[in-house]
Amino acid sequence: MYKYVIFGPQGSGKGTQSELLCKNYGFVHISLGDIFRWHMANHTKLAARITRIMNQGLLVPDEIVEEVVHDRLEEHDWNYGFVVDGFPRTRPQAEFLFENWNLDAVIYLDVPDQVVEERVMLRAATASGGQTFTKRLDDTPEILRVRLQEYHEKTKPLIELYQEKGMLRRVDATKSVEVVYQDILNQLQLAKPKPIA
Ligand code: AMP
Repeated sequence: MYKYVIFGPQGSGKGTQSELLCKNYGFVHISLGDIFRWHMANHTKLAARITRIMNQGLLVPDEIVEEVVHDRLEEHDWNYGFVVDGFPRTRPQAEFLFENWNLDAVIYLDVPDQVVEERVMLRAATASGGQTFTKRLDDTPEILRVRLQEYHEKTKPLIELYQEKGMLRRVDATKSVEVVYQDILNQLQLAKPKPIA
């Protein structure tokens, strides 16, 4: 059983790479953003506490995030392991994670700030261009700037902590999806995919 966190700025390909890993190795993909968006779409009690915050591009308070992560991981539906995407995003969240679960590695999708800016602004421009795949209210240029700022202030500094713990696996995420994926497999020293039952 393998327990991974995948982390990197907006537009670094976390979702795509998590999906590939999960599809090929039978891991469960746990995306905090997806869980929160599910609550909003279903107007749950939790949605009432997070909608405004999320729509501004700000981080949801740690207590809420920790409760959601705890409940999700306690489902124990991850026989082969999990890839958590979008968590931890703050130092207290990271400490909460290390206290409760033995992680195997943190995959860091490294993209220079300049490239991140270009990618996310392109995504925002495309999303606001009347395309049918518009699905994120927080992909406007203004809100993306807030989200990037949150990332730089609170999430990126976690690199140091992961490095101290010897868990950081840095991958050059400016490359193509295939090359990045192969680099992840090499760095995690994952053997051929296990047969999925
Ligand atoms: P994402 O889809 O990962 O970009 O997440 C979308 C939004 O969900 C973020 O902008 C935050 O408002 C919220 N969110 C997701 N994960 C976290 C987290 N670990 N801590 C705080 N807020 C989060």
